[in-house]
Amino acid sequence: MKVETLAVHAGRTIGPGDPVSNPIVLSTVFQKSADGSLPSGHLYTRLGNPNRESLEACLAELEGGAVAAAFASGSAASMAVFHGLSHGDHVIAPQDVYHGTRMLLDKLYTRWGLQISYVDLTDLTAVRSATMDNTRLVWIETPSNPLLTVTDIEAVTRVAHEAGALVAVDNTWPTPLVQRPLTLGADVSVHSTTKYLGGHSDLLGGCVVAKSPDGIFEHVREFQTKGGGVPSPFDCWLLRRSIATLPYRMRAHCDNARRIAQELSQHPKIETVHYPGLPQHPQHSIAKRQMADSGGMLSFEVRGGREAAFAVVSRVQLIAHATSLGGVESLIEHRASVEDPTTSTPENLLRLSVGIENVEDILADLIHALG
Ligand SMILES: *Cc1c(COP(=O)(O)O)cnc(C)c1O
Repeated sequence: MKVETLAVHAGRTIGPGDPVSNPIVLSTVFQKSADGSLPSGHLYTRLGNPNRESLEACLAELEGGAVAAAFASGSAASMAVFHGLSHGDHVIAPQDVYHGTRMLLDKLYTRWGLQISYVDLTDLTAVRSATMDNTRLVWIETPSNPLLTVTDIEAVTRVAHEAGALVAVDNTWPTPLVQRPLTLGADVSVHSTTKYLGGHSDLLGGCVVAKSPDGIFEHVREFQTKGGGVPSPFDCWLLRRSIATLPYRMRAHCDNARRIAQELSQHPKIETVHYPGLPQHPQHSIAKRQMADSGGMLSFEVRGGREAAFAVVSRVQLIAHATSLGGVESLIEHRASVEDPTTSTPENLLRLSVGIENVEDILADLIHALG
């Protein structure tokens, strides 16, 4: 089946007499048979729940994986992967990795005994020379935040696998509609489903999808069911419901972002636009090869530095001045001021999560705000 059909039907089984919209199963416990067996396969909701299982089946199918584990946040999903490693293991992560992932690695996992190297993953020689005997994981995030650099997943995976390391890709920004890391060789794909998959800025969630239930995914499942960082049945239901429209939302996000990137790149008040769909993007050819479209995220640098950038966010009317991304509404944010003081994000950079409003309205708001 094609992706639009999977988005509606995957993980949903409806028998005669069943409600067409799956009910939300709030019960934490399930009655056993007289002999102690479990007729529905369910025992206790931390271990498994019908809404979570429906969501996981859908996520696995969308990513082209065999199994998925849903978590209460994207950060909890990332932790499940890091927890699959052992004390003394070495991890290679992108130098411009999502700020929250960097905080997890630096504040939690360094103390826990992981060794981390932050590397420019667009430089294969640098990746190769960063590998060590104890390198067990290469973490990829592409396009990156907030500069939209593109990492060649197939090429980095080859280097990682030669070194005996697994590859995890944070696929939150592109979504499975735009990029499918498992088909490019990666071992696991990780999402903050809070973003595009949820799509309405009203739920928190995450997931890990893998090609096989063995290997690192065994640890991920164990971390999920024994650690219990799971989403509630209502959040699973809400997310499963949102995914039904994901293919159509992503098409609108991508079309709007492409048009805005083109327009802004010709605007006299703008120095640079970072968007993988623009021919002048440094990794445009890699993006064309590994992405089905260019995504709904872009960033741009305003002439006049930090003050000029803040003047823009103070003048937008339709676009909300807020963090996060992937919702139906457009959001703009000055990233340098929310990141670590050591950040290399330019002070004149604004990040835009392009919503699914009419693109003319978004453009008019931006052009007015640019003065
Ligand atoms: C938001 C985000 C996360 C973290 O997800 P939460 O759901 O906020 O925990 C991880 N990676 C990327 C790329 C994100 O944008």
